[in-house]
Amino acid sequence: MALITQYLTIHPLNRDYFLMVNSLSGAVDIIDNDDKSNIELLTHGRDPKDINNQDLIATLRERGYLFENAQEEFATLQKIKEISENLIDKSENEISFVICPTLACNLRCTYCFEPEESRRDTKVMTTAQVENIFQIIDQIITERKPCHSEISLFGGEPLLPSTYAINKEIFRLASLRKMSIDIQTNGTHISDYIDLIKEYQGIIDIALQITLDGVRDVHDRRRFRANKSGTFEKICEGIDALLEAGVHVYVRVNLDRGNIERLHEFIGFIVAKGWNKKENFYCDVAPVSDNHAKGAVPDFMPENEIVRRIGELFPDYSEDGNFFRLRLFRVLHHVNEVLKLNSKVDKILFRFHYCEANIMQFYVFAPDGYIYPCPESTGNQKCRIGSFDPHLEFYPEQIRKWQGRTVLRIPKCRKCKVALFCGGGCAMAAINANNNIDDPVCNNAEEVLAEYIQSIRQKIIAKYGSVTSSASDVF
Ligand code: SF4
Ligand code: SF4
Repeated sequence: MALITQYLTIHPLNRDYFLMVNSLSGAVDIIDNDDKSNIELLTHGRDPKDINNQDLIATLRERGYLFENAQEEFATLQKIKEISENLIDKSENEISFVICPTLACNLRCTYCFEPEESRRDTKVMTTAQVENIFQIIDQIITERKPCHSEISLFGGEPLLPSTYAINKEIFRLASLRKMSIDIQTNGTHISDYIDLIKEYQGIIDIALQITLDGVRDVHDRRRFRANKSGTFEKICEGIDALLEAGVHVYVRVNLDRGNIERLHEFIGFIVAKGWNKKENFYCDVAPVSDNHAKGAVPDFMPENEIVRRIGELFPDYSEDGNFFRLRLFRVLHHVNEVLKLNSKVDKILFRFHYCEANIMQFYVFAPDGYIYPCPESTGNQKCRIGSFDPHLEFYPEQIRKWQGRTVLRIPKCRKCKVALFCGGGCAMAAINANNNIDDPVCNNAEEVLAEYIQSIRQKIIAKYGSVTSSASDVF
């Protein structure tokens, strides 16, 4: 029996017109009330032959909204999955070797995912461990031949005075291999590291992601030291020094109810500092996530609500030419690609998986001698995918769990209309909340899509011209 794809969502644009989004084929079309009524009839089992607008039927078939039967839809899904996997193999085959020199951290951020014991654990990786890691990196690169690979420093806090010597060794070994280094830091010890960074930055690419959650009082209320002192001033000095030295700086603003209303002020601060004029400065806003599913994030705000509020606070927002970006909103970023509202998009990858951890693009090395699949899983015994100290060993069964985690494997996601926008949610959250990597914690992907389309509907109409009365391929 003919059927309308389960991957269809319909969103009102105004009183007379709707946006139809097909996350299976990537088609996006504007329809009117008559089209919508006909599509609803088809959804409820009406035979396509009995629909009075056969042009609409032809367009629906052509653009992957209407299938002869469930088998035809499933075959299309499998074909798209193969194409996506091929694309990932060929052009998206990147590996990030994440090294955590320590799990200790000097801050006590209100929304931190790390357990208190880890943050207090002062253990630092040894030189022998780091040498071992680089041999393993060489081996993995030889076997997997990625088109790009990099070293990423993560923690705890990777840039502490106690980790200086081991970081120096990591820089040396990375530079011998001409590998770039990406550092995710709280930015409180840049002054201790600036000379080391300058020494290597002409030899390899170095980028730092530094979190600043708002203007001074907002930031210091959320990201403070163990002795409760604020960090804003010190971080800003560090950013100034890095920008001056030509190093790439990505400021990350973690958003929730505690700071979103004052995002405007922070943007004013960035402009007053002149950071936005620097070519090596980027600013990414991101939702504070509850990947550890403890429900303990104090001002947690669901992603769809953040998206709606950003739309209200910044009605003229556009990814193009704006210095703050939304690329860290996983669902939203993908929706933007499908809607082609970002001119930098040249190809769309359907999201059968949620994140890099599900396609083994992360190897996370921790001071405990184990290898983990995702940076937030370090220290969690259930997540280990191997060990590197004293010798290399991978755990194939664990790797299969992480690597094969697609929306086709997860029963709940198989029935979800926005599965190919979402990708199945965070695997860590599934493990933490449900003790089962295939029992996902939904991240409001459907609401994110709906709220976002509402917030940009004027832009959609402006970009794609006046709406037409049939399901035409205006996108
Ligand atoms: S995690 Fe939830 S929203 Fe995401 S694909 Fe699965 S069922 Fe859909
Ligand atoms: S599994 Fe979750 S926490 Fe880990 S990298 Fe993916 S999205 Fe992040």
